[in-house]
Parts: sequence; structure tokens; C-alpha cells
Amino acid sequence: VVHAIQARIDVRRQRRAEFDKLRDTPAFTRDGAKITLLMNAGLDVDLDILADTGAEGIGLFRTEFQFMVAEEMPRFNAQAALYSRVMDAAGDRPVTFRTLDLGGDKVLPYLEAEREDNPALGWRAIRMGLDRPALLRLQLRALIAAAKGRPLRVMFPLVANVDEFRAGRALVDTEIAWALRRGRKAPSRLSVGAMIEAPSLVWHLDALLPMTDFVSVGTNDLLQYMFAADRGNPRVADRFDPLSPPFLRALEAIQRACAETGTPVSVCGEMAGRPLEAFALVALGFERLSMPPAGVGPVKQMVLSCDREAARRGVSALLKGGAGSVRNEIETLARKTYLAI
Ligand code: PEP
Ligand code: MG
Repeated sequence: VVHAIQARIDVRRQRRAEFDKLRDTPAFTRDGAKITLLMNAGLDVDLDILADTGAEGIGLFRTEFQFMVAEEMPRFNAQAALYSRVMDAAGDRPVTFRTLDLGGDKVLPYLEAEREDNPALGWRAIRMGLDRPALLRLQLRALIAAAKGRPLRVMFPLVANVDEFRAGRALVDTEIAWALRRGRKAPSRLSVGAMIEAPSLVWHLDALLPMTDFVSVGTNDLLQYMFAADRGNPRVADRFDPLSPPFLRALEAIQRACAETGTPVSVCGEMAGRPLEAFALVALGFERLSMPPAGVGPVKQMVLSCDREAARRGVSALLKGGAGSVRNEIETLARKTYLAI
């Protein structure tokens, strides 16, 4: 809640500043590539800043936040009411709902959890959803009810193997059939996606992508799992840089596989909201970035001043290097290509 309120204050401050002028300007690079900038959200308070940011939609709605701020498990009606408010607030703009990403560092005071030695590697996210299908099915039912025949986009967190995605998708189909049997409306368009957060999936994209309607790269978790460094522990989290050859190569492999199969892909980790990191993502070919609300203005300013082709050539040369971080080199490149960072 504190983060959400702070984000709202930051966006309001920016509104008065230079970014307000850019709010309705579409984000095209100087060489004409359209970059879609989306916002991450999770609470009611995020909704009224959607229009202020100029974001083209919500690329990541963290549904577990409602569960984390509640004193008891939100029931079907409370879930459906929130999802419906989100879709109403977004209007024609797309919203991607992520199913519950509980467990790990996201603990519910009213849900008894077994102590785990390694909660980040433990019983969390889609693992919990598949083991407790009643919880996940209730949520999917609430999403379908809230859509009331509108388009619906759902994605699963921390998918680590393709069977998990297949099982999650089957539950969505079961719930659509349940709704239809009761004479309720199915979503006019249903898109089911996977978050790419577990490194295992990077090596199984040929199997995963044909099963999905879209994927979204959760760079916060992907970085933590690739470098074996707890994202919440500042002693180790700051040792590893997403602007490093191994991480950028993994992202490049994902982008390339998605381009080859025509699978829509976005990046929704925090790095998408930082202009220099977003510059690297644009250079790698990503065209959909979802970020904390206060990132949209600065990232748009970067996109408008960026020459994607020059950035692509520069970053691709840096991927072959042997350094643990290429942040300084990317910054120099950004400045050379007239970038407002
Ligand atoms: C991520 O892991 O990058 C992500 C967007 O999900 P969360 O930060 O909620 O784990
Ligand atoms: Mg994550």
C-alpha cells in the first residue's frame, strides 16, 4: 500500500513537470518503431493514475495484493468486484491479470503456511494454484464473471515447466465451460499467457510458445533465479546487474524465439521502468514494456529520443563481451545515440 501511494505521489509530481507534455504522445523511436508502454498495478489506488501516466493499458495486474492487504481471504464477490472495477477503469485499454502469486515472500497472515527453508524456491505461485485448484478455479471464475463478455487476458506466475502451463490453461477452459453451462457469457476474446521467470523455460520456448497466446518476462524473478541471488536481500541483490551479457543474452533468446513464432511478448519486471535498462530492452527488440506508474514518463522520453537500429547494433556488440556488467558501455552508447537518460 505504501508503494502504491508513493507511486501515485510520484506520478502526480511528474504531471506538473515535463512528462505531462508527453502524456498523449505515442511512443515511437526516432526510426519509427512503436513501443507500447503499459503500467503495473495491483490495488484500487492504482486505477485512477492510469490515465495520468498515459500508459496504454495494464501489462501486469498483481492480483495477490488484494489478498495481502485483506484481513481474511477475499471471497468470490470481492474478487469479481475488484476485477470488474479494474476493467471498467481501463475501458478499451487491455489489462493482463496475473493469477495469485502467493508464497515465497508474499505471506498471508490468515493462511497457515508450512515453514520452508527456501521459500523463493518453494511452494508458491502456480505451484500452489495447481495443488489447491479450488483457490485458482475460484479466481478464474471471478475473472470470467467480471469480464462479462469483454476480452480477458490471464497469465500464470512462475511457470517452471510446460506441464504446469498446460494444467493451468486446462483450468481456464474448465471454468469457461462452467460459465457457459450456466448461461453466462464467455469472454469475447480469451488470451492465456505465461510469465517467463524460471530460467528452465528459456530452454524450452519451442514447446512453450505454441501453447501460449502471449508471454511476459518477469525480470525481477528471472534475475534472482539466474544469478542465484535473493532479490529481497540487498547484500546480494545489488551484486548482479541485469545489464550483463548473460542476462541480456537470455532476454535476446526470448525475444528472438517470440519474434520467430509471432508470440506477443512483454517485459514486466522493474527494469522495464528504468530508462537505461528500457533502452537495452528496446535495443534487443522488445516492443511492449510494463512498468511501475512513475516509469512511464521517463521511459517514453527515452523512447522518443532513441534510434533503435543504432541501439541494436551497439548492444549486440556488447553481448559478446566478457564483463560482469556492461552498464557503463550501454550508458556511453545511449549518450552517443542522443538519448535523454
Ligand atoms: C517479476 O518477477 O519480474 C515480476 C514482474 O513479478 P513480481 O515482481 O510480482 O514477482
Ligand atoms: Mg515475479
